[in-house]
Amino acid sequence: MTALIETRQLRCGYGKDLTIVPGLDIEVHPGEIVALLGANGAGKTTTIHTLAGDLPALGGEILFNGTSTTSPLYARARNGLGLVTEQRAVLMTMTVAENLRVLCDNEDRALELFPELRDHLGRKVGLLSGGQQQMLALAWTLARPTTLLLADELSLGLAPLIVERLLRAVRQAADSGVGVLLVEQHIHKALTVADRAYVMQRGRIRFAGTAAEAAGRMDEIQASYLAAAPVGDV
Ligand code: ATP
Repeated sequence: MTALIETRQLRCGYGKDLTIVPGLDIEVHPGEIVALLGANGAGKTTTIHTLAGDLPALGGEILFNGTSTTSPLYARARNGLGLVTEQRAVLMTMTVAENLRVLCDNEDRALELFPELRDHLGRKVGLLSGGQQQMLALAWTLARPTTLLLADELSLGLAPLIVERLLRAVRQAADSGVGVLLVEQHIHKALTVADRAYVMQRGRIRFAGTAAEAAGRMDEIQASYLAAAPVGDV
């Protein structure tokens, strides 16, 4: 099966010379959630933004649906890439209904994923809680014809119940065929919904395996590679 996204010796970083990730080989297939774990500063966000086309690759190759690409984010988004980050991509001065109309034009699908937004359709998004705003961001992203979701710390700063709610929706999307690369500080929760995991340390993948294997070896992974990671609910 062709991967939704695959990297070959991908080099990520900033400017011309600042390499953060020297040579990355990862892949994400339809229907799976792949957790990308690592301590603060390991290079996860840099990787996600390079995969999204937000940052230019410094070397190597990204294959999107089997085809090598250097296109920018908007072009990848047109071809099924969705990016959700801690910065909630919503239009604060518009209502929830207006957001859904403008951003995905598929209110029914968005409300199917997050029925709890139904009661807030007429409210200005700026008046919603952070959790509701992130639900909206995830709802419109997944209500588009998204085939690959890149999620970078989508639960940052949100209450545990909201984190679980968001991850449940991500799982639901994967079960309907979306491939997901999930960067998540709540490692235990991430591994509960993920199928596979990569652990990154200083820009290099140090562990690749099933989520169950990662969870089973978490003490060792934690000690070896995640020393600086938040220990919150690990
Ligand atoms: P965190 O969980 O803290 O966000 P991360 O694994 O996502 O960590 P990155 O944010 O990718 O890590 O950061 C990796 C390295 O890249 C860090 O050393 C960081 O200082 C550096 N970095 C991040 N953004 C820039 C930038 N715009 N210019 C230069 N260096 C940067």
